[in-house]
Amino acid sequence: MNHLRNCLKDIDPEIYDAIQKETQRETYGIELIASENFVSDAVLEAAGSVMTNKYAEGYPGRRYYGGCQFVDIAENLARERAKQLFPGAEHINVQPHSGSQANMAVYFTVLKPGDKLMGLNLSHGGHLTHGHPVNFSGILYNVVHYNVDRETEVLNYDDLMEQAKKEKPKLIVAGASAYPRILDFKKFRKIADEVGAYLMADIAHIAGLIAAGLHPSPFPYCDFVTTTTHKTLRGPRAGMIMCKEKYAKAIDKAVMPGMQGGPLMHIIAAKAVAFKQDLQPEFKEYQKQIIANAAAMADEFRKLGFRLVSGGTDTHLMLVDLRPFKLTGKTVEGELGKVDITVNRNTIPYDPEKPFITSGIRIGTPAITTRGMKEDESRQIAQLIHRVVVNIGNEKIYEDVKNKVRELCEQFPLYQYKLKDEYKI
Ligand SMILES: *Cc1c(COP(=O)(O)O)cnc(C)c1O
Repeated sequence: MNHLRNCLKDIDPEIYDAIQKETQRETYGIELIASENFVSDAVLEAAGSVMTNKYAEGYPGRRYYGGCQFVDIAENLARERAKQLFPGAEHINVQPHSGSQANMAVYFTVLKPGDKLMGLNLSHGGHLTHGHPVNFSGILYNVVHYNVDRETEVLNYDDLMEQAKKEKPKLIVAGASAYPRILDFKKFRKIADEVGAYLMADIAHIAGLIAAGLHPSPFPYCDFVTTTTHKTLRGPRAGMIMCKEKYAKAIDKAVMPGMQGGPLMHIIAAKAVAFKQDLQPEFKEYQKQIIANAAAMADEFRKLGFRLVSGGTDTHLMLVDLRPFKLTGKTVEGELGKVDITVNRNTIPYDPEKPFITSGIRIGTPAITTRGMKEDESRQIAQLIHRVVVNIGNEKIYEDVKNKVRELCEQFPLYQYKLKDEYKI
C-alpha cells in the first residue's frame, strides 16, 4: 500500500525545489567524499515510510508504547540481518541515531566523567568523538591521543604500547575517518590487555569491507564495535553497536533511556533493508570493486605527481598531499567544486596548515563504485582532478573538465528516473 500522493511540490515548493536540486547535484556530479554513498531505492522507500510516525521506546517485545507489533518486525529483522552480516557480534543494538551516538553509548557504558580515553588524533585521521576537545568526548573524559608515525604515516604499535603503558587508559578506541591502511585489531587487543583497558573498534568507514571479509575482523578482539550504517554499508544515515553478550544489558540501557528516547523506526526499517542487500553475493563484489577503484586511482595520482599519505591505500580511501603542487586542501576543494567534483579538505599527519585550510584532500571510492564506475573511470577521475590542480582559475579548462564530468555521470546513471527538464543545467 503506497499512499504517497506526490504532494510536496504543492505544499512546500521551496523544499521540493531544494530536493530536486540536490537530486540533480548527486546525479551530475562525481562524489568522492569517502564517508558518503547512495542508498538503494528500496532503502529510500523504507526511510520515507510511515514508520516515522511511531513511538517505540524500549526494545522489541518490551516497549513502553502500544501498537508496536509492526515496528517490532522491522527492528527484529534489522538485528537478525546485522548478526548475519557480522557473525562475530554477540549482541547488536540498532537504535543509535548516528555513529557519534553509538560511540557515546559505549563511553557511557564503561567510562565515568574524568576517566581516561585513548583515541587517534583527529588531525591524524581520528574522529571528533575520539576525544576532540570541542566534542563531548573531549569535554567529559580525560583524553590522551595517539598519532601516526612521522616517517611511515601509519600506526606504530610499539609506540602505542609504550604510550598505553605510561597513560593507562580505561578505554582504547581503534578506528579512524581518514586512515588509508589496515587496522591491526589483534595488536590493539594485546595493548589493551597489557594495561587492562576496554577495547572499542569504531568501524564507521570500513564496516562494508569487514562484512565482505576484505579487512580483518575486529570481533574476536574487541569488547565493543561501533559503526555507522550509511558509509560503506550503503544504508540510511544512522549508527549501530555490537558487543559481547556480557555488555548487552548495559549497552541497551545506555542507548535508551541513557541518551535517546524514541528510536527512528523508519530508519531502523531502512537499515533492515540495507542489511538484506548487503547479505547478497553482489555486495562482496561491490566491496572488492571499491578497493580496486581506490587502488587504481591512487596509482594514477602517484603517476601524476601527487604524494599520498603512507604511500597509498589498502582500503576505500586515500589522503592526497597537495604540497607538491603548492596548493591547500581548502583551495582544491573549492576549485573541484566548480567542476562538479566533490571532495573534502583534510589534514595530513603533522600538517603545517591550520585544520580549516589543510594540505590535503580525502578521496573515497564507495559512491562512484555504487554508480558502476570501475578502474578505468577511477583513473580518468584522477586525471580530471590533476587537470584542475595544474590549471587553477583557468575557466576554459574548467568548462572542459565539467563537461567530461557530466559525460561520465550520464554514462553511469545514478537515479533511474529522469529528472524534470526544468532542472537540467
Ligand atoms: C563517520 C564517523 C563517525 C560518526 O558518524 P556520524 O553518524 O556522523 O555521527 C564516527 N566514527 C568514525 C570513525 C567516523 O568516520
